Formats: sequence, structure tokens, C-alpha cells
Amino acid sequence: MENILAGVATTQGIDELIKLLLGDGYQVIGPSAENNVIQKKEITSVEDLPKGYTDSQAPGHYALKRDSSSPELFSWAVGPASFKDNLFPSKSTLFEGKITKSDVSISQKEPFSQKVCFFGIRPCEVAAMAVLGRVMAGGPYQDPQAKSVRENSLVIAVECGYPAENCFCTSFDTGPMADEGCDIIITEITEGEHRFLLRSGSDTGHHILNRLNYKSALPEDVSARDRVIAKSISQIGKSIDAENTPSMLARNLSSHVWSDIARRCLSCGNCTMVCPTCFCASFEHSNGLENDFSVTRRWDSCFDTAHSYIHGGSVRTSTASKYRQWMTHKLSTWVDQFNEIGCVGCGRCITWCPVGIDITEEVAKIAESESK
Ligand code: SF4
Ligand code: SF4
Repeated sequence: MENILAGVATTQGIDELIKLLLGDGYQVIGPSAENNVIQKKEITSVEDLPKGYTDSQAPGHYALKRDSSSPELFSWAVGPASFKDNLFPSKSTLFEGKITKSDVSISQKEPFSQKVCFFGIRPCEVAAMAVLGRVMAGGPYQDPQAKSVRENSLVIAVECGYPAENCFCTSFDTGPMADEGCDIIITEITEGEHRFLLRSGSDTGHHILNRLNYKSALPEDVSARDRVIAKSISQIGKSIDAENTPSMLARNLSSHVWSDIARRCLSCGNCTMVCPTCFCASFEHSNGLENDFSVTRRWDSCFDTAHSYIHGGSVRTSTASKYRQWMTHKLSTWVDQFNEIGCVGCGRCITWCPVGIDITEEVAKIAESESK
């Protein structure tokens, strides 16, 4: 369905929305300022939201600060924690079993069935959940946890009024405005009276908003929202050429830029851990003393030498080959595999890289080296 304008709320109205969701049995997971970063946690009221916080991000840099006089609830960009682990937990037991003299019993963990609301989620995050969801549960072999979360979750997105220096969502149409995949879309407006414009993007979202007594939106509320988005777009300075980069990278697997990156890259894997779409995993088979066994899946990274181990040794041992694998998968071979790019431009890999390697700059250098 098309987004339907539902009304205008105050901060109190946002609290009423959270309380209504809790009353409907949703576990509400939303943003909160914890340990000097914007985190996500279970929230129960508007008081849990990071009121007055802004962030500053640059390659290899993140800092949060608070203005206690600011009424704004969403004046920050994405923090390190994405919603990836809700679809794809960092550690999960896939199977458990027991062997007896006459039988082998295997049980699979029940998929998560709680109704969850992802509240205050950024548009790039909604896009990342869709990209990861297609990997985990979009094909013939579906991960039960990811499938269950996709089916049981309610998505309430907040459009971005404060993109960070490392954001480049505009390259992939994944922000700063929200559209597909959202049940409810909120835009915080500070021009004039502090307020929130609410739109529904699904029948479920529409019915929820209809139960709240919001003021009708006026044309000036809609044009104020459009100015929030236009300002955000004008502030986004980084970009990747989504159309030409996949083929450009495929032609440049021998570029000298890979070894230049390797001189700076620590192979720490931070970029893969914070990335909301990276899905490398390793599997651990354990046997207990009671003839029991289990299979556990953990997040892994293509920067780990052991991750590319096949019979006889690892395929990728140099840092240059690991970084090339990571970037070319994200921006080139993902298209061959899933018919879309595997990056949503959230900028986390740039912010949380301890040496400040910037994927947008490295892509530009490879393109430039080809043209020389
Ligand atoms: S590659 Fe970087 S910018 Fe792209 S989705 Fe992953 S963390 Fe975000
Ligand atoms: S690019 Fe940065 S975050 Fe990624 S492995 Fe290299 S040093 Fe670590």
C-alpha cells in the first residue's frame, strides 16, 4: 500500500504509541544512549529514547554529545549496533541431539516467535534488514529465525534529519527518506513547534495509528517534512556509483590499490562485524560426554584467515586478498549472487575502522587507477 498520512504527534503522542505497542504484546526494541554510543535496547517509554543526543562521525571516529535543553529524540545517525543480530544472532545453536545405541535424535531450536517492533529504525537499516532477509530467508533454504523475525516484526522507521559525515545512503536510494518495508514512518520536525509527522506504510501500521488520537497533518507539516529530507540529502557528501561500480571492480581485481589498502588495513574485521548485511558464519560441532552433540553458528569474518580454509590451507592469506574479497563481494559479486548491491551506505564500516579506511574513497581510487 502507499504511505498514508496519519497525523501529527507531540512527544507525548510518541509515548502513547510505544505504550499501545506494549499493550498489543510487542517487545519494542528502540534506540537508546548507552556506553557513549547510540545502542538498541528494549524500551518501554519515550523516556528511554536518546533525547538531546547528537553524534559526530568521521573515518575512524565516533563521539556522542548531549544538549539537555534539546527536545529532539532522533537527532543522531546510526550507532555501531545494527539490527542484524535480530535476524542473524551472533551466536546460535542450530541443532542439538543425542546418540543412543539404537537411535539418533536431533532437535532444532524453536524459532523466535515473540512479536517484535523495531522502533526508531533508520531507513538504511530497514533496507539492510531486507537485503539480509533475502540472503537468510529469501531462497529455497530458509533460516527459521530470520524467517520468523521477518514475519512477526513491526517496523517503525524514523527518517533522517541528521545524517553523519560517513553516510552515503543516497547512492543506493536507501535513505534519508523511508518508504518500502515500513509499517509506520515518523519524521521529527523542529521548524516551528516540535512535532512528529506520522505516515502508515502497511495495513497493520494504518490500524495502529488509527487507534491513536493524533491531530490531522496540515500542508505546512508535509512541506516542513520535505525540507527535513532536502536538508539531509544536501548534507550527504560521500557516494558510490551504484550503476558502474560492480563491473568496474570486476575489471580491476589486479589493481595496485588493493596492496595500498593492505598497508593500512589491520585485518581486524571490525568493518564486517558492524556491517548490517555481512553474513559470514562459522559452524562448530561439539560432542558431550553424555553422547550428546550440538551445532553452533557464530558470526565470522572474511578477514579471518581460517574463514577461507579449505582442504590443504586457506585460500586468502594476504590482507590485500581479504579486503578485495570483502569489497568486491559487497559491491560487485553480490549483484551476481542476489541481483542487488550488498551495501546500504550506512557508513558504519568507515566510522568503526580503527585506521579510518573509507570504502567510498577506495572505490574512487580503484576507478581512478583504471582510467590512468
Ligand atoms: S559496507 Fe559499510 S556502508 Fe555498506 S552496509 Fe556495510 S557497513 Fe554499511
Ligand atoms: S578495513 Fe578497517 S575495519 Fe576492516 S579489517 Fe581493515 S582495519 Fe579492520
